[in-house]
Amino acid sequence: MTGLSRFLCELRSKEASRLSALGEAAGFAHEVAGIAHMVHSREKRKAAKRSDRFFREDSSPKKWDTFLEHANRKSFVKQVARDPRGDDKLARHADSMNRLMSGRAIGRVKGRTGTYKIIKLRGKKQLGCTCADWRYKRSVAAKGKQDCRHIVEFKARAKTAS
Ligand SMILES: [Zn+2]
Repeated sequence: MTGLSRFLCELRSKEASRLSALGEAAGFAHEVAGIAHMVHSREKRKAAKRSDRFFREDSSPKKWDTFLEHANRKSFVKQVARDPRGDDKLARHADSMNRLMSGRAIGRVKGRTGTYKIIKLRGKKQLGCTCADWRYKRSVAAKGKQDCRHIVEFKARAKTAS
């Protein structure tokens, strides 16, 4: 592997597709497409490994922190949803964590054990919160039960302000 392709390998698939557009323009589309494919399958392998580790691990709070970190990547979310050891609820949880991680922070609310960020979930009208209650329960709760106390407080505050 040349130094260049090794370097490109390190890039995430998103960057790789942008590069392939650049590559096409520069006239070496074929080579760049090959590298993009390599990056993509590497991403998939990594997601499979992480997902497998998740399903094997015993339950611990740290396990869910790691889950949140990994859920930042769509490849992981897809892999978890695909795994027969999981269920719909877990798939929904993974999707919510991905939207939480990639959403936009629109406020902060002080709780009993810390200050939490109120997040506008990516691609949804719904709000999320970085507190444990929202992450573990509300993110997969039925409609009408999806707001933690911080979101409720945030919404009430927004109402009085307007
Ligand atoms: Zn909260």
